[in-house]
Amino acid sequence: ASPTDALHTVVLIPGDGIGPEISEAVKKVFAAARVPIQWEEHLISTKNVVPGQDLIPSTALDAIRRHGYGIKGPLETPIGKGHKSLNLTLRQALGLYANVRPCRTVPGIRTKFDHVDVVTIRENTEGEYVGLEHEVVPGVVESLKVITRSASERGARFAFEFARQNKRRRVTAVHKASVLKLSDGMFLECCRRTAKEYPDIEFREALIELCCGYLISQPQRYDVLVLTNLAGDIVSDLAAGLVGGLGLTASLNKGEHTVLAEAVHGTAPDIAGKDLANPTALLLSAVMMLREMNLHDHADRIERAIYTVIKEGKNLTGDLGGKARCSEYTRAIIDKL
Ligand code: ATP
Ligand code: MG
Repeated sequence: ASPTDALHTVVLIPGDGIGPEISEAVKKVFAAARVPIQWEEHLISTKNVVPGQDLIPSTALDAIRRHGYGIKGPLETPIGKGHKSLNLTLRQALGLYANVRPCRTVPGIRTKFDHVDVVTIRENTEGEYVGLEHEVVPGVVESLKVITRSASERGARFAFEFARQNKRRRVTAVHKASVLKLSDGMFLECCRRTAKEYPDIEFREALIELCCGYLISQPQRYDVLVLTNLAGDIVSDLAAGLVGGLGLTASLNKGEHTVLAEAVHGTAPDIAGKDLANPTALLLSAVMMLREMNLHDHADRIERAIYTVIKEGKNLTGDLGGKARCSEYTRAIIDKL
């Protein structure tokens, strides 16, 4: 094998708003840490779109399929122009069936609880997000939630495998099977059955409203949570809020052969282009991707540098109460490498 065989290519979609700035931070930190990857940048702009047309060019999708790895900044979905959400399009086109979001207390960030360490695993392909809504008669709409055994089993298995590989103790299936007896009932049943194959992992069940209540009163109860699509969307943001918000938490989408790291926050148009954005969420997402590539040493070093800078508190961005610019915070991380 030639040396270039070891060099992974990663597709980078900087995105809109603060996307280019936080992507720049990732590129700088990765270069300083000598991460053995090369970038293939795809500028997807939602600015000059034709109504109804695909927003994500097939060249970008093909590149992610071909290389297997991608990083995506926030994308703006033009409202009212007949476009499907870009994030949804990407997940469906690439078969990214599971979303992983670790929410862990960050030393130096003051929050209500000290020892939160929750990972949400969200089924990413179906549920309420199939987009099947219609108006039956004026004033009455129906919206379908689709739950399949295959996707539920795949999600459940992913959660237990994740727990085992990451040495987590417990998986909790979060559901509303008391009301949604067929749909959430089947999801829960799939989790129960899968749990039997993982005797080393403790399995629990939680009604979603009770889970939310406990998350904001006793978050230590939870370790890995596995959820259907909409429930996962909501609970993962809640969990992120517990540890300092969307600017700090990582997110990884996984498919059979594809990994897409993403920023979960939006485009932050109010601060875009001003060098004020906090790049931590995208950086930590990119670090998760490095672990998927088995580049654990690089991942550890970068992660340590980020957490050290945050803990020291001297170079924090505005959202964390500091005065540093995005570029200054980035420089501080590089200095720690
Ligand atoms: P979008 O429509 O793309 O979701 P938005 O208007 O909802 O954009 P968000 O990106 O969701 O805006 O941000 C909400 C608030 O949080 C804004 O005030 C924004 O400045 C702030 N914010 C979001 N992400 C970051 C970040 N990475 N660093 C600093 N502030 C951020
Ligand atoms: Mg938003």
